[in-house]
Amino acid sequence: MSGLSADLKGHAALITGSTSGIGLAMARALAACGADVMLNGLGDAGEIEAARAAIEADYGVRALYHGANMLKPDEIADLVSEPVKAFGRLDILVNNAGIQHVAKVEELPSEKWDAIIAINLTSAFHTTRHALPVMKRQGRGRIVNIASAHGLVASPYKSAYVAAKHGMVGLTKTVALEAAELGITCNAICPGYVKTPLVENQIDDTARERGISREEVIRDVMLHAQPTKKFVEYDHLNGLLLYLVSDAGASANGAAYPVEGGWTAA
Ligand code: NAD
Repeated sequence: MSGLSADLKGHAALITGSTSGIGLAMARALAACGADVMLNGLGDAGEIEAARAAIEADYGVRALYHGANMLKPDEIADLVSEPVKAFGRLDILVNNAGIQHVAKVEELPSEKWDAIIAINLTSAFHTTRHALPVMKRQGRGRIVNIASAHGLVASPYKSAYVAAKHGMVGLTKTVALEAAELGITCNAICPGYVKTPLVENQIDDTARERGISREEVIRDVMLHAQPTKKFVEYDHLNGLLLYLVSDAGASANGAAYPVEGGWTAA
């Protein structure tokens, strides 16, 4: 991480969906600032353990992992109790876990709709309702919801994702109002396209399918709506995250911040 900092020593953070991509980058950014972190997500056990151990080795904080499935409310409840048991507190909750499925609305399998709403939206309701009592007791808390540019505007063929991300922005505003006097803030970050492993894998596939170059896929397909024609980088999101969770972010509340190169300005 380059030049980004906040003093998070003694803080404990829970980041859902942090075994990959944006969530893992955010967990590393919080750990780099001194926070103990609770990782969560799916994936290969060996790779997850390597990512967890690397955080401890790189930053000298405690990093733990809990494999709660965001489809399962009981497992989510257990996940939120874990940092309190292990670290004695929960200061920062980042609701990041998410999946995507691209199809016309009349062709979207209803199981995909249910899974996207459950993982991308309902899981944040469950983590938040379990985290708030802890944060209230502490008199301080920071909840950061990873929505999307698709929490602010729509694109075709992404009905469930767009609905979930708009819902995430609504949940953010409501929680912010309910907790405002208690030292707790709740905000949403709305990224544009970020070159996570998931997105990287799609470039070659799309180039092959459409018979165009990787560069054309990136510029004309993926970044069509992103005026900078550049991917958002992890640090561009981490800078906002660190501001929001720091003391300087105390008055930033109930907002949905676009970090998408100007996409939603159009
Ligand atoms: P990713 O696939 O790299 O990471 C997703 C994470 O969520 C992984 O850790 C995965 O294991 C976890 N996850 C998925 N299903 C889960 C489940 N049932 N239970 C627990 N964990 C589960 O994707 P990413 O691109 O890093 O996306 C992270 C978040 O950022 C998502 O909410 C996504 O919608 C949002 N986002 C991504 C982009 C982008 O361009 N990559 C843009 C805007 C918003």
